[in-house]
Amino acid sequence: MLKKKKLVLSKAKLYEKIGQDQVKCIACAHYCRIVEGRTGVCGVRMNYQGDLYLMVYGKASAVNIDPIEKKPLFHFLPGTEIFSFGTVGCNFACDFCQNWDLSQSAKEVQKKAKDKDERMLRLGKLVDYGQELPPHEIVKYCLKNKIPSIAYTYNEPVIFFEYLYDTAKLAHSEGVKNIFVSNGYESEEAMNKIHPYLDAMNVDLKSFNEEFYNKTCKAHLEPVLKTIKRAHDMGIWIEVTTLVIPGENDSDEELESIAKFIADVSTSVPWHVTAFTPNYKMDQKPSTPPESLQKAYKIGKSAGLKYVYTGNVFDNECQNTYCPNCNHMNIGRDWHSVTKNEIGQGKCSKCGADIEGVWQ
Ligand code: SF4
Repeated sequence: MLKKKKLVLSKAKLYEKIGQDQVKCIACAHYCRIVEGRTGVCGVRMNYQGDLYLMVYGKASAVNIDPIEKKPLFHFLPGTEIFSFGTVGCNFACDFCQNWDLSQSAKEVQKKAKDKDERMLRLGKLVDYGQELPPHEIVKYCLKNKIPSIAYTYNEPVIFFEYLYDTAKLAHSEGVKNIFVSNGYESEEAMNKIHPYLDAMNVDLKSFNEEFYNKTCKAHLEPVLKTIKRAHDMGIWIEVTTLVIPGENDSDEELESIAKFIADVSTSVPWHVTAFTPNYKMDQKPSTPPESLQKAYKIGKSAGLKYVYTGNVFDNECQNTYCPNCNHMNIGRDWHSVTKNEIGQGKCSKCGADIEGVWQ
């Protein structure tokens, strides 16, 4: 028997009414059409009596203070801490998700519910496991502890848009920066609305193959490519991450396509090629061998990318930042720690060439 729990419903900012009690959510590229009493694909945006509500406003299900290198962001305030939080729910359903207990639970708990009331009760109970964390508390914590930025992370941030929007706006008014760690499925409407308050993004480009996105993530490739281009055109600092999964996306051809796409956006966009470890529905797959990451690193450099980094492996050499002109090491890293930083005003300390990023 489910215990009655009260859900705090917060009216959404990103939706349209489309006829008799139906709504269209415009937060992400799924553009879900949702009938009364149901949630969209993400499991946390519900049509309640003909309007769309976010059901996780102010309810953080994961909260940490992380080094910014862990996001990963290597060209954005290196060596600083970042307040990181996320909620339950996600608009993707990746077979290799590392946070599947958070990302998939909002959908899972609703599956066996008989009706709207039971769906809300089940979701309410799940959301109540999270921590009460309103936007002003997050910003207050950052100011008190001199934490310069906030990451909306762990699950896809755009699904809790109203919660992050209020936080990001308040954070900016107090001089705190905002970062999305994202699957790149933001709608154009969401990007336009958050743009004034968004400083940086790390976007996963999980593959260059529509079939992979379709089968393995239950999504599509094209919207992700559009978000990367759009964010770059908007002047938001962007870094791209590809989790290299053995036998899934590690062919030369696929890695070359990803590297070429990034280089066409800009050769200054850092590309992180990171190691997969067995997880969730891919728990029988082997981990990524270091040679695959070395191969991806070389492919990225051959495509003209100035900054390529390996991740989730001990490989200090490919995690440092070298000057694209004279190859001098300007930032040294050891796992998520910065061991040396000579960048200063965004110039190589030896030859004075530009090293792109947000350094101060
Ligand atoms: S955020 Fe995306 S997945 Fe969730 S309801 Fe809106 S359109 Fe659907």
